[in-house]
Amino acid sequence: MELDLGPELTAFRQEMRDWIAENAPAGLADLVDWNTPSIGGSNRDPLFEAMAHPLYQEWDRKLTDAKLTCAHWPENVGGRGWDAVRSAIFNEELHRARLPRNDRGMGEWLVGPSVIAHGSEEQKKKYLPPIISGEHKYCQGFSEPNHGSDLGAVETRGVVDGDEIVITGQKVWTSGAMRANRIFILCRTDTEAPKHRGLSFVLCDFVDNNIEARPLKQMSGAAEFCEDFIDGARAPLDGVIGGLNNGWRVAMTTLGYERGGRASTQYLGYEREFWELVETARKYGKDSDPLVRQKLAWAYSHVQIMRFQGLRVLSQAARGKQPGPEASASKLFWSEYHKRLGELAVAIEGADALVRPDGDGYATSPWQGIFLASRAGTIYSGTSEIQRNIIAERALGLPK
Ligand SMILES: Cc1cc2nc3c(=O)[nH]c(=O)nc-3n(C[C@H](O)[C@H](O)[C@H](O)COP(=O)(O)OP(=O)(O)OC[C@H]3O[C@@H](n4cnc5c(N)ncnc54)[C@H](O)[C@@H]3O)c2cc1C
Repeated sequence: MELDLGPELTAFRQEMRDWIAENAPAGLADLVDWNTPSIGGSNRDPLFEAMAHPLYQEWDRKLTDAKLTCAHWPENVGGRGWDAVRSAIFNEELHRARLPRNDRGMGEWLVGPSVIAHGSEEQKKKYLPPIISGEHKYCQGFSEPNHGSDLGAVETRGVVDGDEIVITGQKVWTSGAMRANRIFILCRTDTEAPKHRGLSFVLCDFVDNNIEARPLKQMSGAAEFCEDFIDGARAPLDGVIGGLNNGWRVAMTTLGYERGGRASTQYLGYEREFWELVETARKYGKDSDPLVRQKLAWAYSHVQIMRFQGLRVLSQAARGKQPGPEASASKLFWSEYHKRLGELAVAIEGADALVRPDGDGYATSPWQGIFLASRAGTIYSGTSEIQRNIIAERALGLPK
């Protein structure tokens, strides 16, 4: 099915296609497969190595100079004010050219939208430009050893001291902490108030600020998360977004974007991955196996459902609606799908999926990596059980 987007958006697509063709550094597309789907929390080593390459750095500069970094943010905070449809078109054009977005990660997708929705004008001026430039790299300090799903019960304390807030406690599963220099923390600033009403959302320096980040080693040998011991970290009071004790509202905005923010073009990566799996099935002589064929057909139909769900999210966003329970539906769908796809991939590889190509460290093959990391997809950003609760209560109106 081809959607007719009308003359204005068709012209926009052509403009982006031309800009990409004129500006993309030669050879960048061949450095690595840039557009494999996100497997959240994973280092995806080849991608990070490729991002250090001068060609990527040049591309990053060009995109930023052309205001194509965080382009979906409003114009008054350094974006282009693109709606969801334009953002999706730009992503499609990058996929078509096999080129990367210069994604600013949690800063772009979680901190930015939360500051835009809940921050003051001064906070927007102070905290958004360093995300666009790449100077501020954020990680997320929500989960604690005793509070993951039950996020509203976090115990990390925030105490106001003059014009600063002083934070003490422990966070865990902080993805990408080793690359971050900033953290957004959900902490308790009022111990007397009902649990959801005593929280604050704080933007804070992550290095040289009394925070010890200890890597957590995984069974693959990689260490993609940290546990953070916070012993009197300080942030200026203007780092509290949405006001003291109003952090739950801000955190809900953050989680809404984390679950559904990129739903509209997410299928593109899964579609590419699907065809790679078909190739793998051919390589292993399994493409004529009826059971494998049936499962591949299952996977293809799921990618197409994801595409249509994405269009639904897109049409809602185009009408100015923020992601709500639909974000949970799309998160549940892609994460459960990806887990099954990982199982299918290692079944196709058979015994090869049981061995590691070389020695210690992070040496899993791509399908092994997808199999392992896809298990995490149904846990981070809220587990599948939590998404089902949200869909049941807030979308279907069922009792608790
Ligand atoms: C790859 C990965 C990356 C992560 N990155 C980050 C990060 O960057 N920052 C961060 O702050 N956190 C991060 N997390 C943590 C993640 O948000 C939590 O693991 C998640 O919210 C679940 O919390 P928990 O681990 O404490 O499990 P628990 O909340 O203890 O849940 C245990 C089990 O009980 C079930 N359960 C709990 N409550 C209910 C309920 N009400 N109804 C039904 N079932 C329920 C859960 O579904 C789960 O199966 C990451 C996790 C992973 C796996």
